[in-house]
Amino acid sequence: MAASQPNILLVYTGGTIGMIKHPETSALKSFDFKNLLKNIPELKLLDCNIEAISFKEPIDSSNMNPKYWIQIAESIEAHYDTFDGFVVLHGSDTMSYSASALSFMFENLAKPIIFTGSQLPIGDLRTDAKENLITSIQMASLQKGGKPVIKEVGLYFEYKLYRGNRTTKINAEHFEAFESMNYPHLAESGVHLKVEHDDLFKPNLRKKLVVHKVFETDILLIKLFPGISESILTPLFELSQVKGIVIETYGAGNTTTEDWFIDLLKATIKRGVPIINVTQCSGGSVNMGQYETSTQLKSIGVISGKDITTEAALTKLMFMLGEQVSMKTFKTIFETSLRGEMS
Ligand code: ASP
Repeated sequence: MAASQPNILLVYTGGTIGMIKHPETSALKSFDFKNLLKNIPELKLLDCNIEAISFKEPIDSSNMNPKYWIQIAESIEAHYDTFDGFVVLHGSDTMSYSASALSFMFENLAKPIIFTGSQLPIGDLRTDAKENLITSIQMASLQKGGKPVIKEVGLYFEYKLYRGNRTTKINAEHFEAFESMNYPHLAESGVHLKVEHDDLFKPNLRKKLVVHKVFETDILLIKLFPGISESILTPLFELSQVKGIVIETYGAGNTTTEDWFIDLLKATIKRGVPIINVTQCSGGSVNMGQYETSTQLKSIGVISGKDITTEAALTKLMFMLGEQVSMKTFKTIFETSLRGEMS
């Protein structure tokens, strides 16, 4: 490796970026990572040293789960001291979940971990993969005074770098597949790479990296809708193995005020199961108490997800339950921004 250039590690997990069409069925399927590098000779022109590792069996990210998150994290942890930045190639379907999860796993992260992928395979003539990959590597290589500029988990797609735990996949068709509704993008790729330095996460650099690897997956996500049924919801909330629940509510965190619903939430919280309130709206924040339809939620101890995304709320819940945060402090810690995931 040339000493003066940043060292970048690519972690290939799968996704459309490295897929090929099955000749008979036309279905997209993952293929060997070596072929991926062969398709981008431009990588050799970048001012950095690139090395790559790959999942033994690349996956479509619809099969992503916490075991794979730990695998990605361990690959990065094992090379943390010898590389200056990391680029994770990942399917776009669950990329926001993984980027959120990794952000919670890496406490005191002082280097960039950039997630990217593409809507079209790298071998496709009209592919978006090359720009996404090349610029992600450039973003991960940005340095000032010999230190990385980006010190957080980012997600780069279609000319924009976002904070990973602020993103949501919003489009299955457009190259512009991601959005960060409640936080500005961190950098933009035009003729120049324009970094929004004021918006970057500023970790405490005196603290050592800690990698957390336990997730509790016995949780529920419930999206409210008019007419949601008591007889369906009650047994779900009463399941003894459920350790935490995220409810996607209306607008600024509003729900039905019917007694059965409020009583169910109240009894669940009393049992020691935290309930997180996030909004179904793609932008804006939960503000319990703003309307009468959320004042009771506040008084029974429902946790405010504020302007967090559902993806970040779920992974934060899995992470905090995995860390066995006590029920006494759970609400306070959840309502605190740990990695810039909420305002
Ligand atoms: N289904 C693919 C995946 O998430 C889609 C993509 O890569 O964009 O792995």
